[in-house]
Amino acid sequence: MYKAPRGTADILPQEQSFWRFVEGKAGEICQVYGYERIDTPVFEQTDLFCRSVGEGTDIVEKQMYTFADQSGDKMTLRPEGTAPVCRAYIEHGMHNLPQPVRLYYIGPIFRYERPQAGRYRQHRQFGVETIGEADPALDAEVISIAWGFYASLGLEGLRLQLNSIGCQDCRPAYLQKLTEYYTDHSQTLCPDCRSRLQRNPLRLLDCKKPSCQGIVEGAPQISEHLCQECISHFGALKDYLERLQIPYELNPYLVRGLDYYTRTVFEIQPEKMGGQSALGGGGRYDNLIAQLGGRPAPAIGFATGIERTILNLRHQGILPPSVPSARVYVAYLGQEAKREAIKMAARLRQSGIPSIMASGSKGLKSQLKQANSLGLPHVLIIGDEEMKNDTVILRDMAIGEQTSLRLDEALARLQERP
Ligand code: AMP
Repeated sequence: MYKAPRGTADILPQEQSFWRFVEGKAGEICQVYGYERIDTPVFEQTDLFCRSVGEGTDIVEKQMYTFADQSGDKMTLRPEGTAPVCRAYIEHGMHNLPQPVRLYYIGPIFRYERPQAGRYRQHRQFGVETIGEADPALDAEVISIAWGFYASLGLEGLRLQLNSIGCQDCRPAYLQKLTEYYTDHSQTLCPDCRSRLQRNPLRLLDCKKPSCQGIVEGAPQISEHLCQECISHFGALKDYLERLQIPYELNPYLVRGLDYYTRTVFEIQPEKMGGQSALGGGGRYDNLIAQLGGRPAPAIGFATGIERTILNLRHQGILPPSVPSARVYVAYLGQEAKREAIKMAARLRQSGIPSIMASGSKGLKSQLKQANSLGLPHVLIIGDEEMKNDTVILRDMAIGEQTSLRLDEALARLQERP
């Protein structure tokens, strides 16, 4: 028996209404904010992610699905959405468009992770990217899209955490201090942190191991080492969020797992749910476009997992609106009537009435039984008599009442009935 690969899942028909709901709200809010959709390939050259996400990160070191294609080129299944959008921005000369360029995407992301609730090897992300301007008002705009998206789904109790991790000018001095502090504590660090100390010291602040917590708490904080520009950028962002009435918590330890972030980083945490991690997050990446070979263009983005969003909807008892399903079952008595019934089902569908056609050589009784188990409220029946008179029988399944009607009358009735 084959099974879906570990860490992946089928989205079965009965779950689709959640997906439609969440992805529909994502598209709606982006439209309201003037963001346009972009779809990038599911795989890219491996080097794109090594250069952007960063060599020392968990994603590049441990989580990428990388393969050589038939011509030996190294490809990677997209482990995040920002780098591909930046690649597209550069490739299509979007710096010639009015800046900033506002884009959003919805698509699958692949990471080789240890699967658990809310963590999969293939998941879907909705993300937005605003590329081409450094105005902190855009940080506030992106955060308010994220906040508004969750609110439009009815999610409550979410918490926005905010930090600034500085820029190329002020971060190096801070990293130096951080490294010195951690070197003094290197004997008591967990093995992961010992290697982070060498490769990616900022990530030391991200360690969740209890044994490292005390060390994290005593570490120097980036907020005390920001340069004047970073301080005023962060100050303006906080002011805009207050004006937008988006409540935030400052978290000096929030650093996020990708190397390209500068200044603003943020995460949206779900209502307390057994240690589950962020529902969504993002930040500014002012150097990434230049790093990938484009003309320098500051940018900010946000991404959220659709699976994790749905998990939170379920947890909060929020049900999506149901998707309209078929309402009419078309039944027939005999092969001659079947030919007529096929035509009739086509007419129903052309009139926008979702219909299911009986099939096989079942008798009328078992056709009605099937309509019943499919939960269809109406059945149209055609037999010899109906063909002769150009009529159909409309059966109301709830009360078992049958009426003989002309097809156009039946259509008119079905159109007005739920
Ligand atoms: P990141 O790109 O790591 O900032 O992730 C953005 C969002 O995507 C997270 O907040 C989660 O909602 C979601 N996410 C990330 N990794 C996974 C995963 N392995 N499985 C499911 N959702 C994920």
